[in-house]
Amino acid sequence: MDNARNRREVLQLGIVGGLGALIEGVGFAGEPSAAELSSTKVATGEAPIRTRVFWTWDHSTEWALNRLGAHTHGSCNEYGRTRGTFIEDYTTLLRWCGRHNIDAVVVWGLLRDCHGGLESAKRLCDVAAKENVRLLCGVGLNAYGGVYYEGDSPHNLERHLQAHPELLSVDADGKPLCFQVDADGRKTNITTVGMPGPRGFYQACPSRRENQDFAMESLAWLFKNLPLGGVQIESGDTGICQCKRCRDRRKHSPADFSWFSWEDMGLMYPLAAEAIRSVAPDAWIVCETYSHPQPYTGPDKAPQFGDAKPVWADAELAKFPRGAFVQWVCDRFLDDGPTGPTWTAEGRVSDAEHRNIMRAHCSTYWWGIRGELALQRIARMVQKSAASGFDAVSLFGEVSPFCTGAELNYLAMADFGGAGNPKADIDSFLRRVAAPLLGGLDNAHDFVRLARLLDDRKQIPAALTDIYGRLPKLPPSAARRWCWLANHLASFVEPSPA
Ligand SMILES: [Zn+2]
Repeated sequence: MDNARNRREVLQLGIVGGLGALIEGVGFAGEPSAAELSSTKVATGEAPIRTRVFWTWDHSTEWALNRLGAHTHGSCNEYGRTRGTFIEDYTTLLRWCGRHNIDAVVVWGLLRDCHGGLESAKRLCDVAAKENVRLLCGVGLNAYGGVYYEGDSPHNLERHLQAHPELLSVDADGKPLCFQVDADGRKTNITTVGMPGPRGFYQACPSRRENQDFAMESLAWLFKNLPLGGVQIESGDTGICQCKRCRDRRKHSPADFSWFSWEDMGLMYPLAAEAIRSVAPDAWIVCETYSHPQPYTGPDKAPQFGDAKPVWADAELAKFPRGAFVQWVCDRFLDDGPTGPTWTAEGRVSDAEHRNIMRAHCSTYWWGIRGELALQRIARMVQKSAASGFDAVSLFGEVSPFCTGAELNYLAMADFGGAGNPKADIDSFLRRVAAPLLGGLDNAHDFVRLARLLDDRKQIPAALTDIYGRLPKLPPSAARRWCWLANHLASFVEPSPA
């Protein structure tokens, strides 16, 4: 999950990070990288990336167009669309994935009373099966509503904690760890009690056996009642319990506030896998780390979302269920240089016990602008990931491909690291995939060049004249994509007085 702290930092850094300049290089300091990659998997014709995943929140997913209520950002929001739109959004998305080489879709907020609970989720499982796509339910084990995200269900975490307030996580002062965070990053403690629902962040104490049992029973119920492809599980990145049991259990539990705990993951993920596999032995289990595999060697501190992995975390990683996917995040590590951390050869993952997924927040307000073209960052993510032992990647999939920026990002993820483009080469992608969509190869190169003018907005008015001049010569489908770019660019310049 993307935590509130990350949201605040992204608000501060997002414009620069999300619209970063074209990254020309492939390699990075000390990596096995391009040459080694060429001499191993690429030379044999094997595709380095085998699995591609879309990651979504229900409330921000907008594939059925011209409907009310979609959020453009956030986690744990209320659901503002209709039940019918929920089905249409994900039916359209799953069909696109089935036809475009995307293997799995994570849905956070899959189970809510307001959009049909189990019945709607079953319908989407049917669509996913037909399209040969794995539908993965996002499940917070100690947070994020549990298995049943919102509603009057015994498998809703907030309901469980309201019935058993003694099982809540507490802060260092012994007060329940329940709060909301607004878009400016302000935290407000929750003092009201109401109907079960996503009214902020609630955490269950992971040390309490009752909460462990609740998570395991809920997961078993989930797989008995839904033919899911799997789950993405998280231990919570909105604060960790500081009760005596938790502090005694953890060797690395700082006194000040900490967003997440590797030791909580090492405790809870094996329990979750045991419960899931007792019902669905073939389910994919994706275990979130909120971290990058680059070893962190600085002074001991509480890790934050997207940080390097503390060296001691390897002992917890070894407890993760064998055969599961371990999910990492690389946003900050795509900006090697004076301002960002460096992803070196030490940030390599092993596939001996687990498979590994690398995830980035490209083309979202978590890290940039929702729907923007992000080919360079996606290529860099795939290149670095493949060179570091990853065989799976994940991107947000909330925006409809009617938005051409999102469409090209998705098609690039489907292409990069595959048999047709093992080195994630942008020119190859433009030639083989984008050119037919944009009016030819020259137009495809121009499209990418002009999309980067968000970094140089003085050039946008002249670029708009250029784009409008191209439209009469383009076939209708290409012209529509260029119209998207023109309106996207125009929305960033001061409108002229009427
Ligand atoms: Zn505790």
